[in-house]
Amino acid sequence: MTAESVPTPVHHLPSYLDKNNLGPWEIYLEQVNRVTPYLGKLAYWAETLKRPKRILIVDIPIHLDDGSVAHFEGYRVQHNISRGPAKGGIRYHQDVTLSEVMALSAWMTIKNAAVNLPFGGGKGGIRIDPRGYSQGELQRLTRRFTTEIGLIIGPEKDIPAPDVNTNPQIMAWMMDTYSMNVGRTATGVVTGKPVQLGGSLGRSDATGRGVFVAGAQALKKMGIALEGARVAVQGFGNVGNAAARIFHDHGAKIVAVQDVTGTIYNAGGIDPNKLLKHLSDTKSVQGFEDSETLEKDQFWELECEVMIPAALEKQITEANANKIKAKLIVEGANGPTTPAADDILHEHGVVIVPDVLANAGGVTVSYFEWVQDFSSFFWTEDEINARLDRIMAEAFNSLWDVADTHKVTLRTAAYIVACTRVLEARALRGLYP
Ligand code: GLU
Repeated sequence: MTAESVPTPVHHLPSYLDKNNLGPWEIYLEQVNRVTPYLGKLAYWAETLKRPKRILIVDIPIHLDDGSVAHFEGYRVQHNISRGPAKGGIRYHQDVTLSEVMALSAWMTIKNAAVNLPFGGGKGGIRIDPRGYSQGELQRLTRRFTTEIGLIIGPEKDIPAPDVNTNPQIMAWMMDTYSMNVGRTATGVVTGKPVQLGGSLGRSDATGRGVFVAGAQALKKMGIALEGARVAVQGFGNVGNAAARIFHDHGAKIVAVQDVTGTIYNAGGIDPNKLLKHLSDTKSVQGFEDSETLEKDQFWELECEVMIPAALEKQITEANANKIKAKLIVEGANGPTTPAADDILHEHGVVIVPDVLANAGGVTVSYFEWVQDFSSFFWTEDEINARLDRIMAEAFNSLWDVADTHKVTLRTAAYIVACTRVLEARALRGLYP
């Protein structure tokens, strides 16, 4: 049967789709709807993108330090594996929901295809605020979760990595647990591991570095000097702090930083290295030398050239998009901008480097880590950074050209390229049976 000869199928609404409560998954669906007109005959397969391939919900019971038993809910979603194994991080956060993990897994499919990594998309998460638990409790949680999702993960099937509130130590526990269960050391089952266990040099800064490379390329296209460019960063975790440091090292001025502990501003520039030390000493960004504290919402109104949302989803919405004065937004976080805010910013001429491109540096070096683990041959940090910079710059420039050709935003361009790659693979493979 060919695409031309069949009637439009009736798709039954999946039970998890709640029209009255637009969550991250509905935002993703809207992003796919926007790209469908550009897919030509491949639109025949577009429904594939709107359904995760596989969803696993697990109960994670653990002994707490006080002797009681606590239960947590965890998820692993494999959105698509048409182009290779599922790939994407694991998030520990009190607000994790199935809708969120589904959207994050789909954004991984788009991201991996946009930069042409041979992976599908996956994501996992546990609804927990890890700040309230000891290292022992987090280790037991991680090991039980790994065992539960061990049914579907594996070096050739689905490869987790760090995401919000997870780190190399948690990846080490995951790798060890999986390895114990299969009876061999399987380093390639997760990425973002410590370098002593098959981790890759350059992985910890990779997402922030990619944000910088994409941002610097965008500034060049827009005719804005990097030197002295004012940058406001939301989120000072793995992504935000590395991006701030690398922008700072290249002569940009970090004028504001916002995180869960507060918002600080200094028109003369904040040294992110000193802020990191202040944060680790005092557990807050507030009180940093020569900086003033702002109200949360004032962050979005700041005079700056570049804004880097590097925290969570749905930060830039209809409520604040009108106030944004930045010329360029580089999305370090996944899903920080809603489609309605996208439209407002586009109207105002603000350029957005979308998450699926801007923060792809992390998974790109995860890919390098996975390849190194398989070949047991490790590269130097210079080799890794050079390859990362080249992949990010090339991806940015080719998406810029697609955006220019179709007169669409960079987000739509990224979706055109990525969805085309995924659906071409889908069409070539065909349906089984
Ligand atoms: N969690 C990161 C992301 O959202 C990295 C995923 C990975 O390395 O697999 O892209």
